[in-house]
Amino acid sequence: MKTYSYRELSRKAVAELCQRPKMDFKAIFEVVEPIIAKVREEGDTGINYYSQKFDGLSPDPLVIDPRERDITLEPELKEAIDTAYHNIRQFHEAQLPTPLEVETMKGVQCRRVARPIERVGLYVPGGTAILPSTLMMLGIPAALAGAETIVVATPPQQDGSIAAELIYIAQKIGATHLLKAGGAQAVAGMALGTGSIPKVDKILGPGNQYVTAAKMLLQNSDAQIAIDMPAGPSEVLVIADQTAQPDFVAADLLSQAEHGRDSQVVLVAIEGFNLEAFRRSLDRQLDGLPRKTIARQAISQSFVLEVASPREAFEFSNLYAPEHLIVQCEDAAAWQDEIKNAGSVFLGHWTPESAGDYASGTNHTLPTYGYARMYSGVSVDSFLKQITIQELSEEGLKNLGPAIEKLASLEKLEGHRRAVSIRIQAMAP
Ligand code: NAD
Repeated sequence: MKTYSYRELSRKAVAELCQRPKMDFKAIFEVVEPIIAKVREEGDTGINYYSQKFDGLSPDPLVIDPRERDITLEPELKEAIDTAYHNIRQFHEAQLPTPLEVETMKGVQCRRVARPIERVGLYVPGGTAILPSTLMMLGIPAALAGAETIVVATPPQQDGSIAAELIYIAQKIGATHLLKAGGAQAVAGMALGTGSIPKVDKILGPGNQYVTAAKMLLQNSDAQIAIDMPAGPSEVLVIADQTAQPDFVAADLLSQAEHGRDSQVVLVAIEGFNLEAFRRSLDRQLDGLPRKTIARQAISQSFVLEVASPREAFEFSNLYAPEHLIVQCEDAAAWQDEIKNAGSVFLGHWTPESAGDYASGTNHTLPTYGYARMYSGVSVDSFLKQITIQELSEEGLKNLGPAIEKLASLEKLEGHRRAVSIRIQAMAP
């Protein structure tokens, strides 16, 4: 890992360190556009065509109702899923909004109520591994928000089946459709609707570059869908001081690096942290990882930034805006208020990122690529719309009317003014 000293870097150099590798979507769009066009034209047949082409199979049926399947899981695995499910549900249930009601003037009532997005599509990646955790992270808030139609899309296994763990979770969240397809064709199927897939209003979930490109293209098309957030490779930034254990820091960086060759891994080392011991531990642990080739490549593109104080560390972290921020410092919670930009934060020596990835309760679908500056991770809010409501009494309109009339006149919208004055004139003197 390259090492830099914060004090010696110019502002321009710091800004460059915060840059992520450029994503060139032009070439990917060229692959994905014809896929969307074919699914638009041919529906299920179009999806099957591309599943055959990219995954070597076209399952029949393409869509199943997970509620109709009988599932048996190995007891310990079922217990692990149930534990994670319980915690994620508990944390997300507490996010359900309470209705808002404010009387802004005597007789002028303003309310805000939440309503679910009725039809949602959840993409669960499956190219290289099954990801039950991702289905929980998307499905639990969707169910809590009250979505009526929940379509889950995931690439099937080589024999055309869907893993029992995914079906079990799909049942728990009340998914209505399980689409046995992945990639851009599955996203297009959900966004446009086909003979067997209902059209959805929002698509959420991570995925490879084809999945991301399809979400981006369809969001800007006449399909009229929303998406959760722009996505890039996964990332972690660890802040470590003299109390941090080098072994723990190395393990946390590697747990991110094993995700993919393009994973972004950053260590911000505060003066006093034992960097020598960390480097030795990183090499040793890297050698023992089954996914060491991937992790090694990610680590080789990553860097260490040496800083003099926690204040400098958080200053840089806020500029970088990491998807995951791990704070392995003395009295870590005391620094919470310094954190301005991050997707999800892990405080103290006993809080590995894996806790939030799987089972503590927080969501793992998070903004990457610096988008933590303006986006939040998936939550119950991601599945809700807020509707505002107002109700004026006669007294309310009498109180507010003159202001409306004045502003409407200023904006030369006579029709607006008259909609008020016609009522005021009709009021009893
Ligand atoms: P995926 O499900 O995203 O994509 C697999 C599909 O891509 C296949 O079904 C296939 O139809 C399509 N495809 C494959 N090659 C293609 C080609 N040449 N042209 C067009 N389409 C093609 O699974 P994946 O590929 O394993 O990627 C998973 C992604 O999800 C990774 O980038 C990983 O980092 C990310 N991920 C993110 C999180 C998170 O929460 N941030 C969690 C898990 C996974």
